[in-house]
Amino acid sequence: MNNKTIILTGDRPTGPLHLGHYVGSLRQRATLQHDYQQFILVADLQGLTDNGSTPQKIQNNIPEVLADYLAAGIDPSLTTICLQSALPALAELTALYMNIVTVARVERNPTVKNEIAQKGFARSLPVGFLVYPISQAADISAFKAEVVPVGDDQLPMIEQTNEIVHKMNSLLPAPVLSHCKALLSETSRLPGIDGNAKMSKSLGNTILLSASEETIHRAVSAMYTDPNHLKVSDPGQIDGNIVFTYLDAFHPDKIKVAEMKAHYQRGGLGDRACKNELEMCLQELIAPMRERRATYIQDKGMLMAMLKKGSEQAHEVTQQTLREVKQGLGLPVF
Ligand code: ATP
Ligand code: MG
Repeated sequence: MNNKTIILTGDRPTGPLHLGHYVGSLRQRATLQHDYQQFILVADLQGLTDNGSTPQKIQNNIPEVLADYLAAGIDPSLTTICLQSALPALAELTALYMNIVTVARVERNPTVKNEIAQKGFARSLPVGFLVYPISQAADISAFKAEVVPVGDDQLPMIEQTNEIVHKMNSLLPAPVLSHCKALLSETSRLPGIDGNAKMSKSLGNTILLSASEETIHRAVSAMYTDPNHLKVSDPGQIDGNIVFTYLDAFHPDKIKVAEMKAHYQRGGLGDRACKNELEMCLQELIAPMRERRATYIQDKGMLMAMLKKGSEQAHEVTQQTLREVKQGLGLPVF
């Protein structure tokens, strides 16, 4: 093991990855893997917390997410990609942490609260879903990760993780677990193509990293702009105009985007021209990923072998943390 700072991040295999993942986290991971010791967790157990009756969905999406990682530039020789359900230490740490977190605290988590409302669970809320932030705290702390590159929906999870780390360390003769911090990207929450606050697999408002040319074209054409910008000569609004939000997130030429914004605001720049500009940069971004991905997804054996190898490496690391926690708590370690 080297002394590089550790990163743990991950995704639920609930569907192929989309542009929100890319700008919120994936793009950073591809850069950070050169300077950090990075682990990426395919969070299948967390995926099951709201898909308990459809495990096939989770199983099918594991290779999809792996192909997306490779297509987005994650290099398995630099990043350890591993599977949550293959790491029993994570489940054991979750069981230990559940005793030091109150029901009131899990109910207060704003992201979980929002997701529960969105999914309309009411009394059929699965227990596992309510407590998934505790299992996420186990994931992060088992790797002793200090940096977690995520979208801003994950900030409450990081806060809760640090509370658990603090409480657990205080119960041990010497601290074992590391505190972590979120690393937000410039676009920490990409809205959906429908204008919803978050592009999300569960909301069906995504552009996938595997989207076809035609799908990208249709998605951009259907995007909301300023409803009061009726004639090209009308002054237009930038605020809440998804096309500009996306241009900010994806266009490589920031000066050009600033000029377009000024032009749109004073009038004379049409929605069609803005959408054409956006479509061009999305087509350019996605085309090479789509091509690489199409090759990787044909070799599921290679993808799963990569995941097995990464999981074996991660097993060592996470078992060691579990051993230290158990010893600290005075539990016999055989
Ligand atoms: P699900 O709807 O199943 O929860 P999701 O689209 O929210 O799926 P996750 O697997 O929960 O995706 O999230 C993985 C990572 O991607 C997290 O770090 C999350 O913050 C980030 N992320 C997901 N969607 C976005 C988005 N729209 N903008 C920025 N980051 C995002
Ligand atoms: Mg999510």
